[in-house]
Formats: sequence, C-alpha cells, structure tokens
Amino acid sequence: MSHFSYQDGVLCAENTPLAQIAQQFGSPTYIYSKAALVENFSAYADACKQHGRNDETALVCYSVKSNSNLAVLNLLGKLGSGFDIVSGGELLRVLAAGGSPRKVIFSGVGKSREEMQLALSHDILCFNVESIPELHRLNAVATEMGKKAAVSLRVNPNVDAKTHPYISTGLKDNKFGIAYEDTLTTYRVAAALPNIEVVGIDCHIGSQLLDDAPLLEAVDKLIELIDTLDAEGIHLHHLDIGGGIGINYDNDQPVAVGDYLARLFAKIDAWRKQKHGGAPIKVLFEPGRSIVGNAGILLTEVQYIKHGETKNFAIVDAAMNDLMRPAMYEAWHGVLPVQQRDSAVATYDVVGPVCESGDWLARSRELAIEEGDLLAIMSAGAYGMTMSSNYNTRGRAAEVMVDGDKVHLIRKREAASDLFALESLLP
Ligand SMILES: *Cc1c(COP(=O)(O)O)cnc(C)c1O
Repeated sequence: MSHFSYQDGVLCAENTPLAQIAQQFGSPTYIYSKAALVENFSAYADACKQHGRNDETALVCYSVKSNSNLAVLNLLGKLGSGFDIVSGGELLRVLAAGGSPRKVIFSGVGKSREEMQLALSHDILCFNVESIPELHRLNAVATEMGKKAAVSLRVNPNVDAKTHPYISTGLKDNKFGIAYEDTLTTYRVAAALPNIEVVGIDCHIGSQLLDDAPLLEAVDKLIELIDTLDAEGIHLHHLDIGGGIGINYDNDQPVAVGDYLARLFAKIDAWRKQKHGGAPIKVLFEPGRSIVGNAGILLTEVQYIKHGETKNFAIVDAAMNDLMRPAMYEAWHGVLPVQQRDSAVATYDVVGPVCESGDWLARSRELAIEEGDLLAIMSAGAYGMTMSSNYNTRGRAAEVMVDGDKVHLIRKREAASDLFALESLLP
C-alpha cells in the first residue's frame, strides 16, 4: 500500500496535499511517511516473531547509509532496530539518535584506526571484517585499548545477485568480502589473535534484489562454512545475511519480505534440527532500501519548460546533487505531477539546473505540466538524501516526516552560508 496517493486529483502524503508541504517548507524537499517506515520495518520484525525468534535469536540491523536522518534512526531504534554502520560518523549519528551501540554492527572495507577506537569504546555488537590486514589492525587497536573486538567475517559467497553491476557485491571480482576459498584460513587467523573474539559470519551480495533465490543460495554457503568451522572448534553464534531486498521502482515485483524470511527461517531451522539438535543460531539482517526506499519521495518544482529540437525538457529545482541515483546508476524513478491536469501530455526529460549533461532525474516521461507545477520523484527514500552533495554550491534539500496529519521538519534546508562556513581565506 502506498502512503503517497492521489485524493481528488491531488497527490498527498498520507492525507496532506504535497502542495501544502511545498508551501510550508519550500522546494526541493524530501518527504517521508512515518507509517510507511513502521510498516516496512514491521515486515521484518513480525516475520522474526512469527518464526519464533526473540531479541536473542534475531536482530534487524537497519543499514544507516540508506537514510541516516536522526528522526529516521530514532524511530527505527524505538521499534527495536539495530544498526549496520559503515563509518564512525554513522556510529555518532546512531548514538545521537538514541540508538543502542550494543545493537550496532560495523561493515565496510576501509575502517580507520580512529573508527575502530570509537566503535570499541562504545562496545558495539560486532565488526564485520573484510580482510586479514583489517583483522590485524583491529587486533592491535583492541590490544592498545585492553578490549576484545567481536568479529564476524564478511564472506563473498560468489553468487550472482542478478542486479546492476554497481550494486552487485557478491561476485568474485568484487572489492567486498573475503573470497569463499580463503574463508577457513582467515577464520583460523582470526581465532588465533588474542584480542579478537570470533562470533559470526556475514555476507551482503548486492542490492535491489527482486528474487530471494540468490540470498537463499548464499545462506546455504554460509551454513556449510559454519559447520566446517564447527568441526575445527571455531563456533559461530550468529549468521548475518546482509540486506539487499529490492523495492518497486518501475513495475518491479520484489519478493515480499515475509515470504523471504519464511523460506530463510525454514532453511535455518531444518539445518539446526538436523545438525545441531535444534539449538538456535542468531540471525541478523541488514536491510536498507526495503525499509526506507518507498517511504520517501522528493518533491520538486518545475522552473522552466524548454522545447528543444528533438526533446522537451522540464527543468526542475531538484538536481543530481539532491538525487544522484539516475546519474550514477541510470536508476529509474517514477515522476508524478502533484496536481493532475486535463491538458495534453508531452514527452519530457526531467532535468536539474546543475552544469552536467548527467544531471537528469527522469527521461522520456509523458507529463501534462506547466511552469510552476510540482512533481513528486517517487521511491526516493533510500540512497537519496544520503548520497546528496553540495555540487554547484547548492544547499541540500529540506527533509520532513509526515506523521498522520502532522508534518514535521526533520532537517532544515541548507543555506548557502552553511556551505562555506568551514572555509577560510589566505592570511
Ligand atoms: C548497503 C549495505 C546494506 C543495505 O543494502 P540494501 O540493499 O539497502 O538493503 C547492507 N549491508 C551492507 C554491508 C551494505 O553495504
């Protein structure tokens, strides 16, 4: 069910007309639906409960990089979410939002010493380690601090996630994870380090996966590794399958989260019963897009209509610096007029004001629009604001969250003066 829908020809967020939000908060503005966030998180949490999991045996660690606004993190934290972070900055955000560091896992191929220190000082749940040099560095930092670092190794299960090459991460020739063949050796190295405590195994094979088959295939490979390690005396307490479930951008039909988790838990339960006398293993998830993607839109205003020789352009006040996905991945986002018109449609490229030909948000769309109209760029809740930049000295968009009939500003629009506040002239 969409939380952004037409009511009497007017596009609304829940029951609030988007034009009203534009009037109050300006444009461009990211708009999120609290109800949609709750619904999407609950799809994971409810499925865990339905399959007999509690806080000790399942944890959903929301992927902070998909949308890291404090209000989003705070809301999810209150619902019981843990957090998957990829930087020290993201850890500080989680803490500022009231999230528990004991539910934080730290992913990423390039953790610095400072980031490790910060995470260890807050006793995070686990580091998802991606290489042997990283293990040695983490062991050294933990030793200096008199701590033990809980570690999971990110394994590259070499399954084809069948998604865009830029967001596919589980194949051999990828910078992410430890090659499947090297897993055992790497675990042996980890187990021998005095200030490393081996606790889990993880993978993340890609993003915007519509089918769960590759994920289930990856689980099979992780299960095999867990049993092999067990036989060597290395006992793992958790299995983290990563994120990656896709959303509907353009007639996509992603697997329902509940169905995916049902198949996953059935597989895991059968394995535990057969090989481990039914003893449970904790299961972790790292979803991002499937929680926030369709819970947000980007509202923008048509500045000019330009009829080119071969193309029409709708030049809007949002640009690639606000929503980078089209420029970066040729991603497709739906574009809906906020006010439906009876006038004739024409075909437009929806483009921004930035001085790059790559600055487009949508191509060849049939729209009935005029200068001054508002458009909603759909499915923009994930990897929208977090990937934004200040290119062309453009302040970042405002962010608001709709909660029933109320609309709350959750991030002010950046002013130009904010953008050069850290700069200084030569003496
Ligand atoms: C980005 C990322 C995720 C989230 O992926 P989604 O496709 O948004 O669910 C999870 N885990 C890791 C390690 C990531 O890098």
